Amino acid sequence: SSIFADIQIAKPIEVFALIADYNKDEFKEKVNLSVGAYRDTDGKPWVLPIVRRVEAQMASDPTLNHEYLPVAGLVDFRKAAIKLLLGEEDSRYGGVQAPGGTGTLRLAAAFTKKFFGCDTVFVSKPTWGNHKGIFSDAGFSNIVEYRYWNAEEKGLDYDGMLEDLRNAPPKSVVILHAVAHNPTGVDPTQDQWEGIAKVCREQDIFVVMDCAYQGFASGNLDTDAWSCRYFKDQGFEFFICQSFSKNFGLYNERVGNLCVVAKDCDAKMKTLSQLELIVRTAWSNPPNHGARIVATVLNSPQAYEQWKNDIHTMSQRILLMRQQLLSKLKAIGCPGTWDHITKQKGMFSYTGLNAQQSDMLLKKYHIYIMKSGRINMCGLTPANIDYVAEAINAVVT
Ligand code: PMP
Repeated sequence: SSIFADIQIAKPIEVFALIADYNKDEFKEKVNLSVGAYRDTDGKPWVLPIVRRVEAQMASDPTLNHEYLPVAGLVDFRKAAIKLLLGEEDSRYGGVQAPGGTGTLRLAAAFTKKFFGCDTVFVSKPTWGNHKGIFSDAGFSNIVEYRYWNAEEKGLDYDGMLEDLRNAPPKSVVILHAVAHNPTGVDPTQDQWEGIAKVCREQDIFVVMDCAYQGFASGNLDTDAWSCRYFKDQGFEFFICQSFSKNFGLYNERVGNLCVVAKDCDAKMKTLSQLELIVRTAWSNPPNHGARIVATVLNSPQAYEQWKNDIHTMSQRILLMRQQLLSKLKAIGCPGTWDHITKQKGMFSYTGLNAQQSDMLLKKYHIYIMKSGRINMCGLTPANIDYVAEAINAVVT
């Protein structure tokens, strides 16, 4: 018999299983609200016009080749990514390119385990489905959820969050969502961020900011970087896990940057050198194509302006869908309050629908939604929004 015979079949990954089921579904009015990727008004994947333009230039650029990148990635990319995030350059900041936000989180987990001896990581309840697994794979034995979503008020459980973080044991890491929290769409206010920073400092918690949606919450890149810049201005030494999957629509190119903010240049250099060794054994060096696109755009004032327009297009469409879904639900007299849909930020809305209602949307209406009730606002279009609103009304009534 096979050496693999005793291996158990793994549990399906919910979001990818939903996509596969959706693709097989032959129902004409099916709607995919599961995947965290932008869709245009026709419900189609959208290649940003600026990305198309840069790719066309790259295709005919004779100076480009397929040599390995440096272990820490493209220098032009790493520098520009940090400037975009922190609004300035400084010898205290450094970056390591990694395959997507996921790759940067792997680096953060491996580094804090190896050099700080951390065992405990705090993640929001709920959080992005991959955080726990990434840190447990890195050897974190204590994965603790801090309170975040207040189901009754459909907002932030700020007091609960602070109380939980105040109980952090020494050498804890906390993952904070910098902006556009996934899955709830609920972000702390600036005052609340100040309170969170205070507790992190008092408890000496190492902060890992997860920044996967810069530009998606407000449409403004600087506004969406506020929390990261605040921690930097407060003198924290911390990591920021930057993903360009969403704001450049480069999902399958795997573009991420682990931004290191240290006390001084020396501390940064030491940290980067050790991160390079982790990269070396993990993937040796990162992929080129997506990072080169991002670097080209961020380093050209004209391309940068065009990119900002593309971000505006995406964020505005999401805002419009939020408003329209809310007004349709109100117009048909859907029971309950739905104002949270327009208050929440970013790509997702945590609808408050329970697992049973979400399952009914899936089975009866062919609307693919996560069991948690999270919907991707970009899956809504002028053509399907009435259908979705009616279906939500039917499952809650
Ligand atoms: N963090 C959060 C909060 C996310 O939502 C995502 C993507 N869904 C990531 C990290 C990872 O993004 P990437 O696809 O760039 O690995």
